[in-house]
Amino acid sequence: MKNFKILHKDGKARVGELITPHGIIETPNFNPVGTQAAVKALSPKDLKEIGVQIVLANTYHLMLRPGADLIEKFGGLHKFMGWDKPIMTDSGGFQVFSLGIALEHGSSKVVGKGDSEPRPRLNKITEDGVTFQSHLDGSRYILTPEKSIRIQAQLGADLIVAFDDHESSKHTHDEMLKSIELTKRWGLRSLKAHKTNQLMYGVVHGGTHKDLRVRSAKFTDKNFEAIAIGGIYGDRQKLCEIIDWVVPQVSEEKPRHLLGIGEVEDLFNGIERGIDLFDCVAPTRRARNGSLYVYPDRILNLRQSRFTADKKPIDPQCSCYTCANFSRAYLRHLFFAGEILYHQLATYHNIHFMTNLVKDIREAIKEDRFNKLRGT
Ligand SMILES: [Zn+2]
Repeated sequence: MKNFKILHKDGKARVGELITPHGIIETPNFNPVGTQAAVKALSPKDLKEIGVQIVLANTYHLMLRPGADLIEKFGGLHKFMGWDKPIMTDSGGFQVFSLGIALEHGSSKVVGKGDSEPRPRLNKITEDGVTFQSHLDGSRYILTPEKSIRIQAQLGADLIVAFDDHESSKHTHDEMLKSIELTKRWGLRSLKAHKTNQLMYGVVHGGTHKDLRVRSAKFTDKNFEAIAIGGIYGDRQKLCEIIDWVVPQVSEEKPRHLLGIGEVEDLFNGIERGIDLFDCVAPTRRARNGSLYVYPDRILNLRQSRFTADKKPIDPQCSCYTCANFSRAYLRHLFFAGEILYHQLATYHNIHFMTNLVKDIREAIKEDRFNKLRGT
């Protein structure tokens, strides 16, 4: 693909450059998630200072509030949110379906588990698309492949995602087969509706069935210029298997994105198997919950009383603003006091951590020492 260049490989791990109208994304890379056109607690100035090269915004949230028409009037998402570097939007499908899957299996809750975002109430899936009720005011919407692509064109992200069906982990093989067939038809409609120069990812589904993943991967590779892998659930071992099934089926020269995955171990596992891009709410959500990354792969939980008088920074090896200036004890105090500053400083550190981790990984791949870095 002309917009994606692979510069070096170390085993299956690869370093490359994805060229977009708003700049180059060095791969492997991690997209922080800015659900509502903001990475929670960080300004675009912070993101640039950290070295973030791309953010992901959620189509579902933005179509409901403030609405794609309004964002378009401001010249698109880049201008609206004051971020002039690359942006990716998802198709909106995941949020629309995530509760639907729960409802299908007897839950009547309209709010997700833990601190998850409130979710929509799913009404109906038809050949045309998905009808759902907004989590904000209960109003009814329909999302179709054509509408998802039109909204993503209005938002104006550099990278977009085709509209896809979302399987349930409880689906039988036959149900899963029907789901990937629907994803194929919606994928073809998404392609037909695609009129911009935005790079569109097709999404590989098929749950934990090898034959379906292979089938979906072949279709996606034949029709799309960029490959996303979705519908991931289950344990780490299964995730590795799914990637190992999909990657050999897709062209070497297309970028590969693992949707919604991005804990440290997942990044290593994915990159080792040839994945280029990741997005995940983990670093921002963890920060808000007092859970902070320490190099290379430890988590420090500020809730623990042993940090009450700890003078050390979160991570003595970290060069970020938070670690250069503040102690664990101070951050723990801010956390329990509910200070807004806590969220800024903690999120700054966690996003800095992820950004530098992928940078270190890129350097290691370039020097053929990915496995050595992983072992440290
Ligand atoms: Zn730090």
